[in-house]
Amino acid sequence: MSQVYLDGKFLPPDQARVSVFDRGFIFGDGVYEVIPVFGGRLFRLPHHLARLEASLAAIRLRNPHTAEEWKTIFTRLMAEHGTKDQSIYLQVTRGVAPRDHAFPPNITPTVFAYSQPLKYPPVEQLTQGVTAVTTADIRWQRCDIKAIALLANALLRQQAIEQGAVEAILVRDKVVTEGAASNIFVVSGDRLVTPPKGPYILPGITRDLVVEIARANKIACEEKPVGIESLRTADEVWLTSSTKEILPITRIDGHSVGAGKPGPMHARMFALYKEYKQAFVLGKVE
Ligand code: PLP
Repeated sequence: MSQVYLDGKFLPPDQARVSVFDRGFIFGDGVYEVIPVFGGRLFRLPHHLARLEASLAAIRLRNPHTAEEWKTIFTRLMAEHGTKDQSIYLQVTRGVAPRDHAFPPNITPTVFAYSQPLKYPPVEQLTQGVTAVTTADIRWQRCDIKAIALLANALLRQQAIEQGAVEAILVRDKVVTEGAASNIFVVSGDRLVTPPKGPYILPGITRDLVVEIARANKIACEEKPVGIESLRTADEVWLTSSTKEILPITRIDGHSVGAGKPGPMHARMFALYKEYKQAFVLGKVE
């Protein structure tokens, strides 16, 4: 793997060292972002940096870098890979201190970032759709924070995989929240619905882009609670994330979704999304 960034230095990964007393390691006390790079450009960078700022504020950490400084770090990491599509991972933890739950005074946050080639989902997942299972959303009540503590998400994703599925659709009090690492859209006829933002979902950057594209193209799109029963009656269900983009879910808990294959609204939205992405790569949209 090419060089990584750690606390001001660019290093080969095997020379990057973090203390065992880092609060990220001990408590999962930190936040992260994943930013896709398309055609050598950082996609929706201001949106990702705004979400990072919100996550840091929520855990009461000062952002260690300005937007310009972050961009300089990412640009150097990206340069190693040429212009291929990439994904940048960054995390900020509270830093190193003797183990104690309370925040230690005056510690320096640990900042880590790296880039890797973007792995798109296999093409048959797009053409045939993927399988999902519903599971109880066992996470906490601040899922809007992009926290590095992902034990619940990892358990839920693993449970889905062991049931032969690609994603877990999380359900809290009979209402769909999101996927283990994605947001969810439900399509009925030509109308889209996605759960509203709030403490129980991560405000996905791809989710917001899909909502934006829908509105710009006069596709009805509502942000309102999605009851678990609407997964059964939906014509289409999609998951969205920066790396999986917009994937059709064609089977949930052993039942076909709609016709059991990717639907016409997915084809339309994915075409619009690809058009937007292409315009971005060509520098026609920011
Ligand atoms: N929800 C969760 C829990 C996630 O982990 C992710 C991404 O990893 C998303 C939603 C999708 O967010 P984005 O579109 O910003 O990648």
